[in-house]
Formats: sequence, structure tokens, C-alpha cells
Amino acid sequence: MTEPSRILPADTTAAALLERCELLATFSSRDDGLIERVNLSPEHAAVNALAAEWMQQAGLTTWQDAAGNQCGRLEGATPGLPALLLGSHLDTVPAAGKYDGILGVLAAIAVVERIRDSGRVLPFAIEVVAWADEEGTRFGRALLGSRAFAGTWDPAWWELQDEDGVSLRQAFLDFGLDPERVGDAARPGSDFVGYLEAHIEQGPYLEDEDKALGIVSSIAGARRFLITITGKAGHSGTPYERRRDALAGAAEAIVAIERIARAAQLIATVGHLEVRPDAVNVIPGEVEFSLDLRGEYDSERDRVWGVVQEMLTDVCRQRRLKWTSVQTHSAPAAVCSERMRKVIGEGIRSTGDRRPMSLFSKAGHDAMAVAEITEIGMLFVRCEGGVSHNPEERVTEADVAATIDAFERAVLALADAAGAAER
Ligand SMILES: [Zn+2]
Repeated sequence: MTEPSRILPADTTAAALLERCELLATFSSRDDGLIERVNLSPEHAAVNALAAEWMQQAGLTTWQDAAGNQCGRLEGATPGLPALLLGSHLDTVPAAGKYDGILGVLAAIAVVERIRDSGRVLPFAIEVVAWADEEGTRFGRALLGSRAFAGTWDPAWWELQDEDGVSLRQAFLDFGLDPERVGDAARPGSDFVGYLEAHIEQGPYLEDEDKALGIVSSIAGARRFLITITGKAGHSGTPYERRRDALAGAAEAIVAIERIARAAQLIATVGHLEVRPDAVNVIPGEVEFSLDLRGEYDSERDRVWGVVQEMLTDVCRQRRLKWTSVQTHSAPAAVCSERMRKVIGEGIRSTGDRRPMSLFSKAGHDAMAVAEITEIGMLFVRCEGGVSHNPEERVTEADVAATIDAFERAVLALADAAGAAER
């Protein structure tokens, strides 16, 4: 682990923010030059300490909560008001980029610093949070920090182990946290007026439309199924009209799933396939495949699942096959509130983009957990080629400048609206 060479001076420009990204990138557990920073590691402690210093420079009072989230607070017009929560995460995947999560934390700090410097007093407090574990890299379970914050911690997680066999409970102790007190991290919704997060897009949609920023409409929730198609295994000499080939049926179904999902602008992925008996000279008697289905809104996703089921029945009837399915996972989409979408849009328009693009997130975010206690909004930032979770992750300085400006304007627009409501 590299010690920080310096604490960069307070500065809210895009160039300074990008310098901070470079500095945070030096906190890695790897010695091959790539970035990996997981929950409850020494590197996690170090970046929390650094973020705390930057938060303090921006005028925030700081603390690390009972789940390892780094937090800060700036009071509003009177002490103790509900807060607007701003943040993102500082943990990474293995061989990560420098901006996924990090950019959102630093943008939040920069916005607070600008507001503090402007002398403007807001009708709500602002809290900034650097989430401990969005990626789930270490324990295979994502959103641990934000789930603790939202009060949706599952005690079964204590026995999760990392690849060295260290339990989550032990990792808490090693980090100096008391597992018995994880409930202290939970915050009631009444503490907040809402949550805003800026994040790189992790997709090419903004770039394709030549947009720097976008309004997130929702964070897709996935439904996953295991589908089994059953025919009859037989010798490869069997004539076609007598075959009941489960794999040919599955192939037809998989191509149809892609067509159906594309037409509905949903994302469907078949990523697992198992053929039985799996021999070169035997007609496949049974095929099992997975389906991951995600969309902007649950109702549309569920409607498409209905269409897929009808298609499966048709394909199987024509080929004299049978099909069954089991749902293995289901998560609801987290919908960004009307109010938060509106202020994010206002923020983007203030940067000169008159017609902000709206898009949904195909990837999960901490905002999904926070949505259980308060309304959420997200601002997406273009990343080169849509590449993320990769050392090649890139953003431009101009886009970062637009991010800070838009994010600041969004916060002030909320303040304006709250002030207008009071008058
Ligand atoms: Zn992220």
C-alpha cells in the first residue's frame, strides 16, 4: 500500500477532482500496478481517512459509521434539519478503473465545498457518504455499506467468507468495527430529504448520443430464471421427423428471447447452458439454460417474461418438447423520483445541454438500497466507449467539469424548490 504523498489543497475544479482520482488510485492491495480496494481492507481505511480530510476541508463534520461508510455533514439554516444525502462508493472490483464510484464521492465533496464557499445557507442539511462496499468484491455480496445504512442488514451475512476464509464478522473486528453495533449505521428515512448520486454510465448510450450527462430514470432490477427444455435423447442416426432435440429447441428459444427483448428495449441475457447427456453422437435429451431479464420498469419486464413464456410453449409444441422454469432471483427496479429527475435535468440544462437524455441503469448501485428509506436520483456521466470495471475506464476533464456544475445546480434547485414551498 502506498502512503499518500500529500493531501491535495482544497479546490473544486475538474482538474483537481481528477488529481484526487489519481491519488485514490494509488491505494491498492495489488502490486501489479492495478487497482483493487475491497471492503474492510487497510486500503479502505486509508481512503476513508483521506476522504474525511477532504470532507473536512469542504466544511463537513465527519465520522465513519458502524458499517465502515465514511460520512460527513454540513448543517443547513438551523442545526438538525433533515439532510440531502450525496454520495457514491470508494471500493472497487479487481483490476478496476479510477472513476467508478470514486467520481461520485469526489463530485459530492466538491459541490459541498462550492456551496459552503458561496455562503449560501440551505433549507436542509447536506450529508456526504462514501459507501464501503458497492461492488461486493470481497464477500460476494454487494451493497453491504448501503444496506446497513438503510437498515436492511441480513444477519446471515456475518458468516460470508472472503477467499482467504475470513468471515465478514472477523473482517469487521479487524477493521475496528463492532459487529454487534452494525445496527447503529441504520438511518431512518426521516433523517433525509432525498439522495443524489453521480456515477459514470458504465454503458455507451450517452457517448452514442454525444451527451456528457444523463438523467437516470431507474435502476433496473433483474429477474433470473433457470429454464429446462426436455426432449428425448437418442442416437445421432435418428431421422429428423422422429427427433425431439432439446438443444435445437433451446437454440431457437434463445434467439427468440433476444429478438423479443430487443423489440421491448429490455436486456435479456442467457449466460449459462447445460446440455445432457452432452455427447457428440447423442441427440440432446435435456437442456438447462439461464435467463437474466432486466428493464427500466418492473411491469414491462414482467410483461416480457410473459411473452417469453408463450414463445417457449410455441417452440416446444412444434418440436414435441416440454419446458419448465424456476425463478432463482428477483429484485424490483429502483425508480428515481419525479422530483429528483427534474432537478438533475435542470442541472444538466444549466451546462448547456437543452435536451437532457434520460436512460435507465442496467447495473446496480447503492441508490437501490437507499431507495428503501428516501427518494433517489442519479446523474450519469459519459465514459469512453462505455468501458468500466477495467483499467481502461476514462472520463474527460470537460465532462467532469459539467458533472460538478450540474450536480451543484441540482442541489441548489432542490433548495430553491424547498424555499419556494416555505414562502
Ligand atoms: Zn459503481
